[in-house]
Amino acid sequence: MTKLAAILKARLAREGAISVADYMALCLLHPEHGYYTNRDPLGVAGDFTTAPEISQMFGEMLGLMLVQAWQDQGSPSPFVLAEPGPGRGTLMADILRVATRAPGFGEALRLWLVEASPHLRQRQQALLAAHDPQFADSLSDLPDLPLFLIANEFFDALPVRQFLRAEGGWRERMVVAEGEGLAFGYSAPLPFETLEDRWQSVEPGAMVEATPAAGAMLEGIATRIAERGGVALIVDYGDSDAPGDTFQALKGHRKVDPLADPGAADLTAHVNFAALMRAARAVPGIAASRPTPQGVLLERLGITGRAHQLAAGLQGPALEAHISAHRRLTHPDEMGSLFKALAIYPADAPPPPGLDVDDA
Ligand code: SAH
Repeated sequence: MTKLAAILKARLAREGAISVADYMALCLLHPEHGYYTNRDPLGVAGDFTTAPEISQMFGEMLGLMLVQAWQDQGSPSPFVLAEPGPGRGTLMADILRVATRAPGFGEALRLWLVEASPHLRQRQQALLAAHDPQFADSLSDLPDLPLFLIANEFFDALPVRQFLRAEGGWRERMVVAEGEGLAFGYSAPLPFETLEDRWQSVEPGAMVEATPAAGAMLEGIATRIAERGGVALIVDYGDSDAPGDTFQALKGHRKVDPLADPGAADLTAHVNFAALMRAARAVPGIAASRPTPQGVLLERLGITGRAHQLAAGLQGPALEAHISAHRRLTHPDEMGSLFKALAIYPADAPPPPGLDVDDA
C-alpha cells in the first residue's frame, strides 16, 4: 500500500466516508504524498499535456491579449501579473517574451505565481528567474494592485462535489473503503435546497457537480478587478450547467479508474463556465465575456498568421509537428471547442480582444 493509501484508509476508518471533493484534495495536494507535490506531471513522459506545452503560439496569443487589455486601461503601473497553477512555467514564459516588448510593461509588472506544489515552484522559479517571481499559497495573498491574471487548466483541478438526484433529495457521492480498495457510495438524502434552483429540474438518477472553491476564488479575483482594474482570463475544458459525472483520472495519457491508485493519477472535473460567469457578474462593477471556444479565440488573436511566420523557418518533421500543434490547439475536433476561455474585466473598460461578449 502506498503512504497516501494508508493515510486515506486511516481517515476512512475514522470518518466512514469522505466526499469526492475531499478525496480529490487529499490525492492531489497532500503536503507530502500528493500527486502534484513531488512530481512534474506534464509532457510526453508524464500523464497529460496542456496547450502551452503543445506550442509557444498559445502563450504568445494570450500575451498579446493581455498587453492590449493593459493598454486599454491606461497602462497601470505597477500591476500584478498573476498565474494560479503555472505548471512548468511555460505559459508565463511565452506571455512574458511577447508582452515585455510593449513599452513599460516589463517595468510595471510584479510577477506572482500561486502554486501548491513545491516541486513545480522550483521549476517555475528556474524558468522565470529573470522576472523575479513571488510565490503565494492563495490568491488572497496577492498585493492590492491592478490585477492581470491568467489561468490555464487550473480550475479543473479544484475539488468537485457530486450529487445524485434521488427521490427524497440529493445524495452526495462519497468515497468509502471496500475490502483492500476503495469504492463510491452515497450519503443519506440531503434537502433539495442544498443546491441552487437551476438544478432542481434534472431527471432522477442524474448527477450534478459543484466546485465551491471556484466560486469563492472567482469572487475574490472579480472584487480586486472591480476595485483596482485589470483582467482575468480563465481557460479550461468544460461546459455550461451540463449535468453528468465528469470526474476523471489520467495516467500516462490514458483514462484510469480514479479510485484505483490514489495519489498516482491526475484528477480533474469539467469546469462549469456558466457558474463562473454568474459568480463574476454578481460582483458590482464587473463584466464577464461569454465562454468563448479556444479555437475561435486563438484565431481572432491571430494564431494563423503567427503559425505561417513560424512555419517559414521549419522543414521536415519539425514543420509537420508545428502544423499538427496548430491544429490541436484550434480544431473543433481537438482542443478548439471543448476548451473555452472566460474573461472578466471592469464594466467601464473595453472588453479584452478576441472574446465573445453580449451586445451592449
Ligand atoms: N497551467 C499549467 C499547468 C496545469 S496543471 C499548464 O497549462 O501547463 C495544474 C497546476 O495547478 C499545477 O501547477 C498544480 O500544481 C497547480 N494546482 C492545483 N491545485 C492547486 C491549488 N489548489 N493551489 C495552487 N496550485 C494548484
